[in-house]
Parts: sequence; C-alpha cells; structure tokens
Amino acid sequence: MDMCPCRRGERFDECCGPILAGERDAPTAEALMRSRYTAFAVGDAEYLKRSWHPRTRPRELTLDPGQRWLFLEIVRTERGGPFDDAGTVEFVAHYRSGGGRGELHETSRFVRVDGAWTYLDGAIEA
Ligand SMILES: [Zn+2]
Repeated sequence: MDMCPCRRGERFDECCGPILAGERDAPTAEALMRSRYTAFAVGDAEYLKRSWHPRTRPRELTLDPGQRWLFLEIVRTERGGPFDDAGTVEFVAHYRSGGGRGELHETSRFVRVDGAWTYLDGAIEA
C-alpha cells in the first residue's frame, strides 16, 4: 500500500500505519479519527476496538467485507488538540457496498484515556 487511505497525502507507513501498529499514539483527535477510518478501510477490527473508549467499546466487532471505504472528508474539528483532553470531529466517510455508493456523515466525540485518544461515541448527521 502506498498512499494512506485517510488521504492526508502521506504514505501509509508514515501516516496511519504506525498508529494502527501501536508504534505511535495519535497526537490529536483528528489523527485518531483518520486512523480509525484507515482501520475500517484496511479491515483492522482489533485497532478499532483498541481505540474505542472502554465504556462504549463493543465486545464483538465484525466488519462488512463487502463495504469498501473510498475516501474521508473532515468537515470540522473542535478542540482535540495536543493540549486538550476531549474533542469533536465531524466527517463524511464515503463507501461503496452491494447497494451502491453511500456516505456516513457523523460527528464523533473523542476523549483521552491514560493520555491516549479514544473514540467515545458519535451522532449521525442528517
Ligand atoms: Zn493516514
């Protein structure tokens, strides 16, 4: 894999790759959001669970192999920086599945647990 699926314009092994591998922490809520999108794109369910807040983390997580993630748009971010302990990221994730193309428009909340960003929950936007 060359370019990272999150489309930040960097190579996978210099972008989300080390975060998925546990070699590096996501420095911001947006970076964690991007890494989770990338995990969906490459089918890394373990990373998705690991980066989920312990309180809201699903016990089982099965990814749909028929769903192909096309690209990610970050719409808006609020806080979630290196000196924050909570943040919000609104995004649109585009995918293709058996039923054709679709998009997931969500506002996600992220909080730090023991210093590391985690995904708390999200609200689907109309
Ligand atoms: Zn990336």
